[in-house]
Amino acid sequence: MLRTAVRGAVRQQSALLALHWERPSRCAASTVFALSSGEALDRGLVLWFPGPHSFTGEDSCELHIHGGPAVIAAVLAALGTLPGYVPAQPGDFTKRAFYQGKLDLTSVEGLGDLIHAETEAQRKQALQQMEGALAHLYTRWRQSLLQCRASLEAYIDFSEDENIEEGVVEEVMVKLQQLVQDLQHHLADSRRGERLRSGLQLAILGQPNVGKSSLLNALTQRPTAIVSPIPGTTRDVVQTVVDLGGYPVVLSDTAGLRNTEDPVESEGVCRALARANKADLAIVVLEAPEVLSAIKNETFKWHEYLRSHLISLEIMKKDETSEQSPEWIENQYFLTVINKIDLIEEENKILIQNALENSCSVMSLKTQEGFHTFLEKLTVLCGSLCDMGTAENPTLTAARHRTHISSCLETLNLVLQPNYQEHMDHVVPEMQEDHNLLQSEDTVVVAAHLLQRAATSLGYVTGHITSEDVLDHIFSAFCIGK
Ligand code: GDP
Repeated sequence: MLRTAVRGAVRQQSALLALHWERPSRCAASTVFALSSGEALDRGLVLWFPGPHSFTGEDSCELHIHGGPAVIAAVLAALGTLPGYVPAQPGDFTKRAFYQGKLDLTSVEGLGDLIHAETEAQRKQALQQMEGALAHLYTRWRQSLLQCRASLEAYIDFSEDENIEEGVVEEVMVKLQQLVQDLQHHLADSRRGERLRSGLQLAILGQPNVGKSSLLNALTQRPTAIVSPIPGTTRDVVQTVVDLGGYPVVLSDTAGLRNTEDPVESEGVCRALARANKADLAIVVLEAPEVLSAIKNETFKWHEYLRSHLISLEIMKKDETSEQSPEWIENQYFLTVINKIDLIEEENKILIQNALENSCSVMSLKTQEGFHTFLEKLTVLCGSLCDMGTAENPTLTAARHRTHISSCLETLNLVLQPNYQEHMDHVVPEMQEDHNLLQSEDTVVVAAHLLQRAATSLGYVTGHITSEDVLDHIFSAFCIGK
């Protein structure tokens, strides 16, 4: 299919390209002719999308022709003879739609994500965003800020003439306080929308030979990693993407964690620990016989055992401060797998079950016993880490959104918090220490200025205000013809 955006005189000429096509029908089987020679090039389908209701807002035309290289070359050559004809760059059509105000920047990103969506949850999130869920939210917030600023400016200009209703500034303050709460709530999403967009990073960790590669293979349902009884087989990080219940998960099988003299294995252990640190969630694999012998010790307590195990693997360090532990430990975003339960007699299996917690999955990757229950648990955990919100209350999906919304929030805090002076290079001499900018007549003008700045931050997200660099970056992810 060839798509053309058509303007002015070119519009008539490209219509001529399909001679048997008669309007007002918008779709016709037609012979496609070369303009210059009148020679028939192909017989195909011509679709006409008149502006302003087309995707780009301009008149556009699609030629559905046969896909052989000679037909394509001939039709492209014929199109090339049209005056003003310019071959499209990646994302050019969407860019036109953006410039015509048909889509805001978040909807453009949603469309890009929809094209690249690999799982059901990603598709839903991208579609919701493309249909304007984030655009509506940010536009509403931006308009509210601009209204607040307008109210303050009216107050500054007319308060002395007493032409302005009382309580205007207080009303603005209440609105801004609500907006600050909404922004804080929106930002405190634990990056769920971003994770859904880019895939959850899941690390499989444990000592050598406990069954990490077997677990990776069970999750991917193919022999992705080498399984072997020889400890230390996996040296590099083996990474693969799977769809778990509609959620995109980037699985990493890692080298068994142990002290080793072998420099190659040692490098593998370093890489495993680095991957553990940047994972969103983890699966820690242990062997049932080892856990059983610990349980037989009278003082066994699962939490203490797990903690000392994580310390011995060097995932957690002794006397660790919270900054040093991977976030998934802090947030309890991990599951523990007690593998090789087939090696345990029946009566001892019950002993293990009773000693452990719900977050542990007892299984055998050899017999598949317990694997499906584990898979359900894992899917629920992935779901709780990926969330697209609702059309009314969507989650943000890109670091770009987070940066600008955070800076909007920072600016609003400057307006509302009494410690404004501390954040500024200059001092506002009239200001009392315990007042915010709205509580002193002399500083309302500074507040109005800051509200404009906060609105600008939101304008960057929606593309009301933008730079060519950002646009180029976003549109470069599109293909030609989109
Ligand atoms: P890794 O080194 O942690 O990646 O462990 P592998 O997945 O390579 O497995 C190490 C050895 O344990 C292999 O010989 C596997 O066949 C074996 N193995 C894995 N899972 C099970 C299990 O559930 N039961 C038994 N009996 N052996 C297993």
